[in-house]
Amino acid sequence: MIIGLTGGIASGKSTVSKILDEMGIRVVDADIIAREVMDSREVVEKITDEFGEKILDENGKLDRSKLREVAFSSKRRVELLNSIVHPSVIERFKNEREKSVTTGEILVFDIPLLFEAKMENLCDKVIVVYVDSETQIKRVMERDGSKRETAVNIIKNQMPLSEKLKRADIKIKNDGTIEGLEKKIKEIFSKF
Ligand code: ADP
Repeated sequence: MIIGLTGGIASGKSTVSKILDEMGIRVVDADIIAREVMDSREVVEKITDEFGEKILDENGKLDRSKLREVAFSSKRRVELLNSIVHPSVIERFKNEREKSVTTGEILVFDIPLLFEAKMENLCDKVIVVYVDSETQIKRVMERDGSKRETAVNIIKNQMPLSEKLKRADIKIKNDGTIEGLEKKIKEIFSKF
């Protein structure tokens, strides 16, 4: 069974993933998969075809900060990069899903942009971790050392958590202590 895990920035996905990991539940992290995909020769070639060799370092490997500079300068470029990277990421998740069907393992897919990337149908159930916006702003500022304005802007540019909650099968409000969060997770996963 595949459980999708998503939320907004600083709503607590990584914290939930860590708790799950400690419980012995395997979590497949979309950010790690995307990084691995971007290191594959095939994808690096496609990226350089579109963005030029300037995004490579002196060893011919992808230089993430250079790529960010070039790719995040316009919406069209972000979409172009996504169209190169997403199909391979989805392929990897599909493989994991197929393996879990054979083994019967409960697997968690930690995907920050699960709804935006239309990956709900890879999951049997989707958990959305959420907090109220003031807590979210404070946690972004604290964790990333961002100014309030930056935190507010990032949140404003994301799909609203209220929208994600409408599509959730299971909602976890992360407004209490970490211990409280752990208790909620254990209770939810004891039913699977
Ligand atoms: P995400 O992965 O969704 O971006 P994180 O799990 O990194 O969010 O959480 C954001 C920040 O808030 C982190 O610094 C984390 O330690 C903190 N945090 C998460 N849950 C709680 C909680 N219940 N109480 C206090 N701090 C929390």
